[in-house]
Amino acid sequence: MSTQDGFDRAVQLAERAMARMAAERVPPTPGNYSVWYTHYSGRDPDLSRTIEILASNRQAFTVERTAELYDRFIGGRRETEAVRAAGESIQAALGRLMSLVESHGDGTSRYGEALQDFSGRLESGLGIDQLRTLLGTIVAETRAMLDQNETLQTQLSTSSEELAELRRNLDDVRREAITDSLTNLFNRKHFDSELRGAAAAAMETGRPLSLLMVDIDFFKRFNDQHGHTVGDHVLALVARTLTDCIGEKDVAARYGGEEFAIILSERPAGEAVTVAERIRETVASKKVVNRSRNQTLGTITLSVGVAEFMPGEPLATLIHRADEALYAAKRGGRNRVGVAPGG
Ligand code: GH3
Ligand code: MG
Ligand code: MG
Repeated sequence: MSTQDGFDRAVQLAERAMARMAAERVPPTPGNYSVWYTHYSGRDPDLSRTIEILASNRQAFTVERTAELYDRFIGGRRETEAVRAAGESIQAALGRLMSLVESHGDGTSRYGEALQDFSGRLESGLGIDQLRTLLGTIVAETRAMLDQNETLQTQLSTSSEELAELRRNLDDVRREAITDSLTNLFNRKHFDSELRGAAAAAMETGRPLSLLMVDIDFFKRFNDQHGHTVGDHVLALVARTLTDCIGEKDVAARYGGEEFAIILSERPAGEAVTVAERIRETVASKKVVNRSRNQTLGTITLSVGVAEFMPGEPLATLIHRADEALYAAKRGGRNRVGVAPGG
């Protein structure tokens, strides 16, 4: 693409983004703009898919909704921004600490010199009045030294509180960056890194490892019947059930819109099927109720694909096999568990 083409395309994308924000009555702040510009650029298929799902569910793109999209899809940059800001604060805090310690050092050496000076004068034989004056000066210098120490202590403890606070903020940012905000499960990015870790551990220890892919049955229909907000509640409900049905060492993540992935460490396919069946039955046995309307909305079912990791296989292959098993379960009539051959 020539520079001119690139320029024209960017202008065109910008115009579409601006027009869309005007139509939705969303103010063109930098955050909102980046959501719509990214969408029209087609650079983030997940963002565009979510926008299309929302649009097909006739959801209005309010300021709040756009902010949510920003957080979920563009917000990764917020993490970088937070890290950059934290780096700057740490630098500033360290600078303050260093100059504190330096000025304290100055004070100490001045005090040392003063003491030396006094002892020199003591040796030169003084009268009682001179001695009184000298003692008064020593007391004053010592008090000044103590005061300075106290200031130093307060300043040091303020600095260490600042640093601890900074650390807590970073922990929050990190937690947010790996969590899906709707379900509180890990997000897909973090799932990928957990799976890499689990596979490496399985290869090292020779222990088994299984993967479950879970997909809600006919969820589009459910959304169409009951609305997107109720659909969101169901996603959170399914997520809680997944967490309840797995062990502490296992990892559950939101893999896509209404799809979940679970890493079952140290479990062969047979045991993974037992867990999958427990999840499937638990969800199927729950009645979904709309509490605000006191209305029973029926039940939700899941289809699950199970694949056991074959040491050495690429992780994409493992995921693909679990997906194939999931689609076999769908084809077989849904509300069932499919198992990938081999493994
Ligand atoms: P299948 O049994 O074959 O999986 O059918 P399905 O309708 O569940 O599958 P399909 O892939 O056709 O549709 C998935 C639907 O999931 C589309 C959309 O309405 C819904 N969905 C995806 N993400 C979200 C979300 O974040 N919230 C809500 N409420 N619905 C979502
Ligand atoms: Mg589905
Ligand atoms: Mg799906």
